[in-house]
Amino acid sequence: AAAELAASQEASLYLVGGLVRDCLLDKTPKDADLVITANAIRFGQDLLQGTSYKTTLHHRFGNLSADINGFKLDITTARSEVYPAPGKLPEVGAGDIKADLFRRDFKINAMAISLSQQNSGCLVDPYDGLTDLKQGKLSVLHPKSFQDDPSRIWRALRYSERLGFDISAETLALLKRDMQLIPLIGADRLRYEIECVLEEAKPENIFLKAEETGVLRYSLPGVKADGWLVGKFAEARKIYGTCIPRVIYYCLLSARLNKLQAENLVTGLNPGKYITGCLGDYRYLAENLPELEKTGLRPSHLYKILVKCRKEARQSFYIASDNPLVRQNISLFEEELSNIKPHLKGADLIALGFTPGPAIQTILRELLFLKLDGQLTSRADEID
Ligand code: ATP
Repeated sequence: AAAELAASQEASLYLVGGLVRDCLLDKTPKDADLVITANAIRFGQDLLQGTSYKTTLHHRFGNLSADINGFKLDITTARSEVYPAPGKLPEVGAGDIKADLFRRDFKINAMAISLSQQNSGCLVDPYDGLTDLKQGKLSVLHPKSFQDDPSRIWRALRYSERLGFDISAETLALLKRDMQLIPLIGADRLRYEIECVLEEAKPENIFLKAEETGVLRYSLPGVKADGWLVGKFAEARKIYGTCIPRVIYYCLLSARLNKLQAENLVTGLNPGKYITGCLGDYRYLAENLPELEKTGLRPSHLYKILVKCRKEARQSFYIASDNPLVRQNISLFEEELSNIKPHLKGADLIALGFTPGPAIQTILRELLFLKLDGQLTSRADEID
């Protein structure tokens, strides 16, 4: 139907990018990108007419995305791009498939499969991505590639790790030449790339590559990727499995930063309210380390320190800590103290004659602290 529709609009239609690469590598693709030499929004709307798939239109780049039962389909108009300055978004012009493939990040991502009726299934590979794919090599299409878009540097590290490909010597030299431009892409684009890294099976290996090349220094100043980080990321995955919340990784990345570096990490990535809150909680825990290292703390005291933090901050602090006493205190809170509640509720206190208002909360908190410290064991104790 897509090929017929494209023909009726006198346009050529192609599958491009990751899907072509993954199919040639016999891997399952994550999403599908189509390029059409016509208005993609009109084509996409005609193609999906009568279906209930959710679509999103992006007018700036003239493309349409659809969610096909969890599989993402992107339809874009074939275009050429000119970058006005390093790190800036490109100016977009009309282009054929060859120009469209030339704007892509790596040769292995710059191949297309025609879906047009006259040459359906033919590979379009003007930049010889197939040779790179066969040799397990990653290379850019032209020497200005990383200057045009420094976010491609992180993409290079990510694909190299995911596919087990080597970055070609020329591309590696360009990457090192241009990595100082990474800050120009701004917080939102850098965060997007870092979060793509965090979605990979073993993000720590990508951070190691970033450390080794120097990319990490220009992206997340102060963050260290080494044996410690590798061990902690792996431990976190043992606890959470593959559904590990990315905030845990964020906290582990920030674990060895000083206050100023941690603040710069937040400014540099702008990770949203929840993650920023967790990173703040993590720092608060670090400041309370001398207390958390103690044994025999009064339970209500431990409770007061830990209850203020989001759970993920506590759990990351647990993982990051190499001190068994800290771990013991956090486990005590998670497994026991956080489940303890006074028998009496606000309504009981009102029934006992207390005036409704903030004082009720204060009394309930005091009851809780006494109960945590073992000074109240029954409802009758609490009423007394
Ligand atoms: P993944 O499996 O990670 O989704 P993908 O190749 O599908 O891999 P996307 O980020 O979905 O990656 O991008 C789709 C295609 O768009 C890429 O294959 C590449 O051709 C192109 N592309 C994406 N980002 C860039 C970029 N920053 N510069 C140039 N081309 C890019």
